[in-house]
Amino acid sequence: MFAVLVGAILLVVILLWLIQKLKAVRWRRPERSSQPAIDRCICGYELTGLELARCPECGRVRGFNASADELGLTDEQLFLIEQKRRERERQSADIRPTSPPST
Ligand SMILES: [Zn+2]
Repeated sequence: MFAVLVGAILLVVILLWLIQKLKAVRWRRPERSSQPAIDRCICGYELTGLELARCPECGRVRGFNASADELGLTDEQLFLIEQKRRERERQSADIRPTSPPST
């Protein structure tokens, strides 16, 4: 009788431990996926920090499978597109609670 009771308590403890482990895994996963992905062109060139929304390697416009000439965009327009994209990126970064508010 005593052995059955100890076995049941042990089973409950193990189940609670397993549930906590699963919860921890579920909570950790979104943090990992919110890490900024490396910004790459279709050709594989890294586009981080460029002034224009155009790949210097292959000439494709960021997010498109076509060159600026094919899309009829000037360098000035490519510059404005990149500025707007960065602005949007900054705004979405401000919304995300990545760091505690400074006092
Ligand atoms: Zn490219």
